[in-house]
Amino acid sequence: MTRNDGPQKVDIVTRVLAANDRIALENRKRFAADSVMVIDIMGSPGSGKTSLLEATIPRLKETSGTGVIVGDIATARDAWRIALQGVPAIQIVTENFGGACHLEAGTVAEAYGKLDASAIDLLFIENVGNLVCPAEFDLGQDARVVVLSVTEGEDKPLKYPLAFHEADLVLISKCDLVPYLDIDMDSLLENVCEVNPRVDKMVLSAKSGQGMDDWMAWLAARMKMSGKMTS
Ligand code: MG
Ligand code: ZN
Repeated sequence: MTRNDGPQKVDIVTRVLAANDRIALENRKRFAADSVMVIDIMGSPGSGKTSLLEATIPRLKETSGTGVIVGDIATARDAWRIALQGVPAIQIVTENFGGACHLEAGTVAEAYGKLDASAIDLLFIENVGNLVCPAEFDLGQDARVVVLSVTEGEDKPLKYPLAFHEADLVLISKCDLVPYLDIDMDSLLENVCEVNPRVDKMVLSAKSGQGMDDWMAWLAARMKMSGKMTS
């Protein structure tokens, strides 16, 4: 049994990604036709993705119709948390799709079909908590945001470069905890720059509200840039 099946495996991975990219392209056209701006939020489990959305949604109430698609391996807990904010939230439980540790364009397309797109200007996709493979799968989004909490350490951008490389914005979350940690914020931000020199960076706390205005301004600017402003 010394058969070398390496190249065949590579073929399969290439085909899966190519199939995903085709569906992502269809998603992108559909989002454009519906004038829905889509932000994919990536980050480790516990980085504060859902808390960020809980703090963001009330601030958008006046200006945009918001919807959320949430991916988790198990449970609909995050969709329930989001639904409490009074916006439509669709949970994708990836264990029903073979326990995938990331979202794919096809599962997003299916979840999107359950939303009333005419009521939505801004759709957040909270990806499965994972800093590795979500970045490999284009979902058809307008922009990608990586949430990295100050508790995760300065070295994560260097250890998980793809997610940071693919990001349009890196949000350093839970900054209210900095006084209790040994984290070196300068070196953390330098490490982000080293992987992606052009990426936007912000430091915020969903809990204290610090930095939230910058994040809201970034979203508004992105909305304008996307040409998907409906009002
Ligand atoms: Mg979450
Ligand atoms: Zn995965």
